[in-house]
Parts: sequence; C-alpha cells; structure tokens
Amino acid sequence: MRTLTETSFIPRDELYNRLEDAQKLYTKDKLQDILHEALKLKGLSLDKVALLLQAETEEDIRLILSTAHQVKEAIYGKRMVLFAPLYIGNYCSNNCLYCAFRKDNTALGRAKLTYEEIEEETKMLLRQGHKRILMLTGEDERTPLDYFLEAIRRVYATRDERGSSIRRINVEIAPLDIDGFRRLKAEKIGTYACFQETYDEILYKKYHPSGPKSDYLWRLFVMDRAMEGGIDDVGIGVLFGLADYRFEVLSLLVHAYHLERKFGCGPHTVSVPRIEPAEGAPLSTHIPYPVSDRDFKKIVAIIRLALPYTGIILSTRESETLRQELFHYGVSQISAGSRTNPGAYSHPEEKTGSQFSLGDHRSLDEVISALIDDGFIPSFCTGCYRKGRVGQDFMDLAKPGLIQKFCMPNGLFSFREYLEDYASPQTREKGLRLIQLLVSEIEDKNLKTRTEKGLYEVAQGKRDVYY
Ligand code: SF4
Repeated sequence: MRTLTETSFIPRDELYNRLEDAQKLYTKDKLQDILHEALKLKGLSLDKVALLLQAETEEDIRLILSTAHQVKEAIYGKRMVLFAPLYIGNYCSNNCLYCAFRKDNTALGRAKLTYEEIEEETKMLLRQGHKRILMLTGEDERTPLDYFLEAIRRVYATRDERGSSIRRINVEIAPLDIDGFRRLKAEKIGTYACFQETYDEILYKKYHPSGPKSDYLWRLFVMDRAMEGGIDDVGIGVLFGLADYRFEVLSLLVHAYHLERKFGCGPHTVSVPRIEPAEGAPLSTHIPYPVSDRDFKKIVAIIRLALPYTGIILSTRESETLRQELFHYGVSQISAGSRTNPGAYSHPEEKTGSQFSLGDHRSLDEVISALIDDGFIPSFCTGCYRKGRVGQDFMDLAKPGLIQKFCMPNGLFSFREYLEDYASPQTREKGLRLIQLLVSEIEDKNLKTRTEKGLYEVAQGKRDVYY
C-alpha cells in the first residue's frame, strides 16, 4: 500500500492560478512565438501550454491545429495504429458516477467471461484482422489478478484458422501494487494504461464516492509503482468533462514531466476520452464541464505540441466525422470495430452491459477503407515492442526521428498482411494502390529496397515481417 508520506505532485491551486495569469498575458504574438517553438519538436513548458489553452478565436485555434498537423506529420508520418478493446468482465466494486459498470447500477447485465469465452472473443478479433488489443475489466474480487493473468496467457496462445495470433496485449485494469506489476510484466504485456479521470482532487472525491478507486493518491501514483515494477510503457489519460479541460491538460503534463524526471521516460501514450452517455451513470447525462468539439480539437492539438513523441489514443466514443478530423491534429492510435461489453464480439445478440455508448460503429474494414481514402497507413505493427524498443529505448530512438525508419516500413508490412488476409476486395484494391504510391515516394535508397523486400515477402506468404 502507499506510504503515508506520499503527497500529490499535482499543485492544484497553483495550476488554476497559472491558468488565470495566462489568460491575462495572452496575445497573438505570444501564440505565434510558442507555435514557432513547437515546430522544433522539443515539447513545451507548462507556462507556454497554459497560454495556448487560452486561445479562443477561430483564427487562433486554426493556427494551433495546423501547427499540430505539421508536428504530427514530421514525427508519425502517415501511420495510424489500430487496436480493439477486449472486455473480459464488467463487475465492479467502484461507483464512478460516469460509468455504467458502477456497483450501484443494479440494472446492468453483468458478466465474467470464462477462459473458453475469452479464446472465442480473441478468435473473432483475429478474424477481423486485429493484432493488438487492449484488455480490460472492472475492479472486483470476482475478476482478480490471477484470473486476468491467465486470460492474458489464453489470448496470446489463441490462433485463428490462418494461424494468426494477437501480438501485443495492452492492459487497462485497476491500480496494482509493485508486486502486482511485476507479475503483469512477466506476462509480456505491452502498455499498462490507467487514467486519473480527473486530476482535480476535490472533484475526484465527489465523482468517486466509494470503492478502492475513491483513493485519489493510490491512483495518482499508479504509474510510479508500474515503472518500479518493471513496466516499460505506461499510458495516462483524462476523462474530459469532469473538470475544466484547461486544468486537466496542464495536470496531464505535470504527470508526464513527473514520470520523465523520476524514471527518465514519460508516458508512452496519452488517452483523451470524453464522457459519453452510459446507462445508469448520472454524470454521463449531466456532464459537469462539457467539452465542445471545437475545444476537443484544440486539446488534442495542444497535447501533440506539448508531448510530440507520445502516442495519442482516441476511442470509438467519438463520431466517425470527428475522428477523421482528429487524425490530422495529433491522434496516432485508434480503436476500431469496438464493443465495450464482455462477450459482444462472439455473441452480439446477448445483452451484457456496455461501459459507454459508441460514436463510431463502423467495422474494422470500413475504418481502414476510410483511412486509405485519407492517405493514412493503417498499422498493426508491434515491431518495437517485440524488438525491445520500449520505454526509454523507444524515446531515445523516437526523439531524433529515427523511429520513422522502422515504423513506416513495419507499418506497411502489417498493412499488406491485413490486405492479403482479411480485407474486403474493394479495400484490398485501393490499399495496394496506396502502398505502391507510398513506396514510390521513399527517397532513401536503402530504406526503399528494404521496404520493397519486406512487402514482397508478405505477398509471397511470409507473415509477421518486421525490423
Ligand atoms: S470507471 Fe472503472 S472503476 Fe469506475 S465503475 Fe467503471 S469500471 Fe468500475
């Protein structure tokens, strides 16, 4: 358990004051200077981010979005990483007022999947073409860590009819102690994700009235314990709508800088969910601090500028149109073809309760088809994780921009694999055309040869090609 000496590293009042000061100091010239600095791809200080967050006119926001677009293109190029969530249980002993899984929502259909059902769900995801999943469950003694660890083993061991398997399991479960994280690490997970929901300690207590999650500090220090337990890649996040978004963005950065200072490596990913309607969750229909689409775009863009090398994850909570737009401003990973109720991939007709309602109902193939139309490379790549380019090593490679040399070809190989094995004929045809175009644009001769060789191997039937 946490020690009594732990105190929050989020200076709540100071951050609110900083935002007030920034509002007084805001000028167009300052905005332009900050955006100019952001193009150096070195991130931004808290004060500068506090200033950016004050932008309100359409023109100023447009400037932020277009700078974020440039930063995103420079670091990530055209890749968009795809994954699907896999909910294995929806029992929960917490009472988060915005979530359908909350304990007091007695009307919700509850489920805990058996290991056989988990294998069945995995096969359904593999048959869609997925290679990366995010595994989740509520916090409850009916779904303890031992159960979760065995579920991870079962998912990794499952094969579809083509012999394909899930290559990276990211995990989003309730905070563990250091020993728990060591056990999670031993199962070869990818990223461990856990969101603070809101960094405002006073509001946090209001929204989390009971259960283990009501302990703000236990959650706030979760990534410290995860990293001490050996987890290389961690994912942090905010549930936008619970507090002033400006405060949440600043706090998120304080969290990232805290990890960077202490462990030499910041978060691998940041998630940006917004509250969505959820059955039996009172806050989800009376959102305390609603975030408009316009502000949401600004948030994504500012995070991209402040943490240029950190992945930004967007879920299917958002609508198809908004998602397509956000891809340009900083989002680098998306879920697709998602279901948020346990067992829903294999038994869509059975009604176990889902965590929240989805805004994007398209299948994986439809999402990929739309990405291709926009010139993005849908990627299932897990190369860095399996080559050990994780944590600090990943950041060392990413920062000088070298990662593109691995990510672009690896992304193309995984995309080609999808097109060969799982795509609809229309998606396959336009996907192959896009690959041809992108390869023709590679200027570096060695990179081009290496890429052509890998793509040829995939076309010849070799699978899981990566550098
Ligand atoms: S947000 Fe998580 S902890 Fe809270 S009720 Fe939902 S599943 Fe449980």
